[in-house]
This record gives sequence, C-alpha cells and structure tokens, in this order.
Amino acid sequence: MINNIASVLEGVTTAAIAGHVRPDGDCVGSCMGMYLYLKENYPQIQADVYLEEVPEVFHFIQDIDKAKQEWEDKAYDLFLGFDVSSIDRIGVAGRALETAKMTACIDHHITNKGLAQKNQIVPDASSTCEVLYELLEPEKINKACAEALYTGIVHDTGVFQYSCTGTRTMEIAGQLMAKGIDFTSIIKDSFYTKSYAQNQIMGRTIMESIMLLNQRCIVGYVRQKDMDFYGVTPKDMDGIVNQLQNTRGVEVAIFLYEIGVQEYKVSMRSNGKVDVARVASYFGGGGHVKAAGCTMQGSVFDVVNSLTLDIERQLQE
Ligand code: AMP
Ligand code: MN
Ligand code: MN
Repeated sequence: MINNIASVLEGVTTAAIAGHVRPDGDCVGSCMGMYLYLKENYPQIQADVYLEEVPEVFHFIQDIDKAKQEWEDKAYDLFLGFDVSSIDRIGVAGRALETAKMTACIDHHITNKGLAQKNQIVPDASSTCEVLYELLEPEKINKACAEALYTGIVHDTGVFQYSCTGTRTMEIAGQLMAKGIDFTSIIKDSFYTKSYAQNQIMGRTIMESIMLLNQRCIVGYVRQKDMDFYGVTPKDMDGIVNQLQNTRGVEVAIFLYEIGVQEYKVSMRSNGKVDVARVASYFGGGGHVKAAGCTMQGSVFDVVNSLTLDIERQLQE
C-alpha cells in the first residue's frame, strides 16, 4: 500500500517512470501526469519517462517529446511503473525494476499481483490516473498535469461511460476541470476524432464482421495486407472493438489484428455476462472483467474457435 506519493519520493534524486507496451491514454496520462507533477513540485528530482511510440492524439500533452523509447543504462533511485500489470509488459524500462534502489507500481488491473516493492493497485478504480490522483496533493496539480490525468480517465472510462466509472471518478474529473483544462478538445480530439484511413478500416472491419454463438458474439479481424492497403498501423486500431461492441444483442466483441505471420493481437469486450479477463488469462494475456486482451498464434479461424470455446461455456453458466 502507498499512502501518498510524497512518502515514496523521500530521499529520491533520480527516478524512472514507465508504462506498458503499446501505450494507451491511461498509460500515457499517468506517466506524464507523474512527470509533470514532479517537474512542478520536486525540481530536485531528475526524472526520465519511458514510453513506447505515443499515438499522435496524445502529443498535445506537455513534454511528451521528452519521453524516451530507448533504455538509458542508469541506476535510478526509484522506478515508478504505471498502468502495467506484469513485468513482461513494461518494455525497455523493465531493466530498472531490477536495478533501481526502490520500486513502486501504481495500477488498477485486477490481474496485477504487485510487481514492485511498494504497490498501489485499486481494481475498482476507473483508471491508473484516478489511482495516481488520490496519491497527489490536489493543490499541487497544475494545468498541464491535470490535462494528462484527465486524458487518462477519459480514455479508460470511454468518456465516463463504462461501469468502472464511479462517483469518485466524476468528482476527480470535476477537480481536474477546475484547473482550467480544455476538456471539450481533449475528449473530441484525443478520443472521438479519427483519421480518414482509421474510419475506412473501421468501416470495413464492421462490414466484414461475423456473428457467432446465436448472435451473442461478434468477431472482426484485420489482416496485415488490409493494414498495408489503408496505410494504417496497430495504433490506428483503437476504438474498433468498442464499435463492434455497440451492436444490439451482443454480449462479447472480439477484434483481432495480425501482428506477425499467423499471429494475432486479440482485444475482447464484454457487456457483463462473460468475464473476458478469464478468457485472456487462459491464453497468457490479462486485463479487466469487461475489457481484456492477449496475443495468439494460428489462423483467424483457429484463434476464434479457441476463444469462443470458453465464451460459449460462460454464456451457458
Ligand atoms: P485492449 O484490448 O488492448 O484495449 O486491452 C484491454 C485491456 O486488457 C487493457 O486493460 C490491457 O491492459 C489489457 N491487455 C491487453 N492485452 C494484454 C496482454 N497481452 N496481456 C495482459 N493484459 C493485456
Ligand atoms: Mn492501459
Ligand atoms: Mn488503465
């Protein structure tokens, strides 16, 4: 348990901040929120943020250009992991977990067993940004930090829609709005606006989707050659699984995209009856009850068959 961030920062002069591979809004928001908070209130701490390639929609966050993609072989006083549930998902900064004098992890994944020396894991929280907010001193949060934290909350709650959104989430969002952030632009530009190519691949995926298990499961997939045709990359696939899920009568949405020869990244969303974290964990992935993912080998047919076996069982329970 961590009571407040100040207790973790005592005596620290160098810190490495890191999120998970293929960073999403909550990961970027929590890492940058921490970085900007330190910059404002702890100028004596020299902090480095490690983030894999950050999607362009998050480039408005202050100091995002300072994020490092390559590991700098430094011995840090403190390693701070955000929104990351297992060591293998940290990426290049995973090394710091072994070499840093002190390690701490702030997260909200139910599958996180506590990968650091000090852990603050709150599975009921909407987002890692919400968990982090509770550890900060509200009056020390400046506008730039508020923008980063708000972005993370917006993305992990699907703009305050998903059931992970609590009354406390809304209170925190209100406190962050009070810092003068342009919340309309953050929601519109980072969450809803898509490039033309992204809309095209989403449209095509929905058009070619298939309904299984008595119309209770929808499956969409994108092959590498389709991505090449539209000139899109994996980070352009955000939101497709959610759009599939927005189909009346569907309990589970499955979205696959090819990341290697006969290798697919799987994203699953559940409307409540099926625990997709259980399905993903079985295949070496993880996540939340209603949103989870994993990586699987084989053809689309093989992957879908394997996944639907347990989903069908759960639908009958
Ligand atoms: P995604 O479908 O990629 O948006 O991920 C949904 C949720 O599942 C997120 O909370 C991810 O952190 C988690 N997740 C996705 N892929 C994996 C994986 N391979 N291993 C562990 N957790 C994952
Ligand atoms: Mn995340
Ligand atoms: Mn998260």
